[in-house]
Amino acid sequence: MDTESAGSGAGGGVAGGAGAGKGGGTGAGTGAGFRHPAGALAGPGANLPVLRGHNAALVLDLLRTAGAAGISRLELAEGTGLTPQAVSKITARLRTEGLVVEAGRRASTGGKPRTVLRLVPSAAYAVGLHLDRDELTAVLVDLAGAVAGARTVPFDLGAGAAEVVAAAVAQVGCLVGAVVGEGEVVAGVDAGARAGVAGGGLLGVGVALPGPLDHRTGVLGRVTGFPAWDGYPLRDALAARLGLPVVLDKDTNAAALGLALRGPGDSFAYLHLGTGLGAGLVLGGALHRGVRTGAGEFGHQVIQLDGPPCDCGNRGCIEALCLAAVARGDLAEAARVLGAGAANLVGLLDIDRVLLGGRTIAAHEERFVRGVGAAVAERGRGAVVPVGRAEGAYPVAEGAAQLVLAPVFGRGRGAELG
Ligand SMILES: [Zn+2]
Repeated sequence: MDTESAGSGAGGGVAGGAGAGKGGGTGAGTGAGFRHPAGALAGPGANLPVLRGHNAALVLDLLRTAGAAGISRLELAEGTGLTPQAVSKITARLRTEGLVVEAGRRASTGGKPRTVLRLVPSAAYAVGLHLDRDELTAVLVDLAGAVAGARTVPFDLGAGAAEVVAAAVAQVGCLVGAVVGEGEVVAGVDAGARAGVAGGGLLGVGVALPGPLDHRTGVLGRVTGFPAWDGYPLRDALAARLGLPVVLDKDTNAAALGLALRGPGDSFAYLHLGTGLGAGLVLGGALHRGVRTGAGEFGHQVIQLDGPPCDCGNRGCIEALCLAAVARGDLAEAARVLGAGAANLVGLLDIDRVLLGGRTIAAHEERFVRGVGAAVAERGRGAVVPVGRAEGAYPVAEGAAQLVLAPVFGRGRGAELG
């Protein structure tokens, strides 16, 4: 298999689009595999408001949160602090680009009925990839954050760079192929997605996997259990093969970003228990990555000095204790250990809520939510901090897609969410 040689410029994030022109009418091309739509798909990022500035992003974010009900120009002006003239200019351009449409009129107090505008969710899409240690999930997500198609396949993160890159590229091809009408059919792919993606609205691919890694350079670190990845430029390798912009981040950060876009800009921790244990932190509405992008290494806090050895080289890590309890079927103990860590986090950061996700949680949701909730309540000294399940069928993969989509709304670029 040959390689992912040169990091072409496409790896630099959403702004890296090749500028191939929006095209709009490329509909039905011919050709094989993933490369077929790529010509139409590689370019549109350059035309999207993500490059047009902050004000258009503010307007789009209000349209996104208003949902199908829509929002009037006056409300957009009030919400953004822009003048009504500036809002009119921006919305006129967004309508021309097909990102926004008029959605009827709504009565207003006193004056004449106001026209409301709404976002067109199918105007653009991103693919989110969750590379877990033993399975890969790919989702296609629209501008409104809805999943338009999804697939999960067995996968081996330890198989080596060439194989992992090939598998990721193949799954993106299958997903996109299904949506534009080629390849195998994926359940749940709707007509809007088909038209949107075929029309050239695929902005890029967000990739989430276990850390440590550097999201700014897209280079992996000593991934726990898979130290051979250390120093590998996975983002650029994928971008070169896909011909699309690629953004890379830790699984926990991606999930936290996706969850932050679903709700108000508050402070919460996302705890992910799957084949490993980690945390994504949103503080004051912003994803907290830390100065070396190493924040959220929740799983490797030592809670039992001289405890059992952990894959990371230390002893008594919460991840080792929790996974061992799961392995021997002692879910009550696993939840108690996870709860102790969650309570520590709540005490340290004074956050609003704790959200649980990951395969192991999903398999025993009720028990973990209850067990961790009890531990947090017991140690809360009066503070009530709800513990719940992370929303979404694929929190990590959907969050990975948001690594690409969120900057359209002025969120999630760099360390910023709000
Ligand atoms: Zn450890």
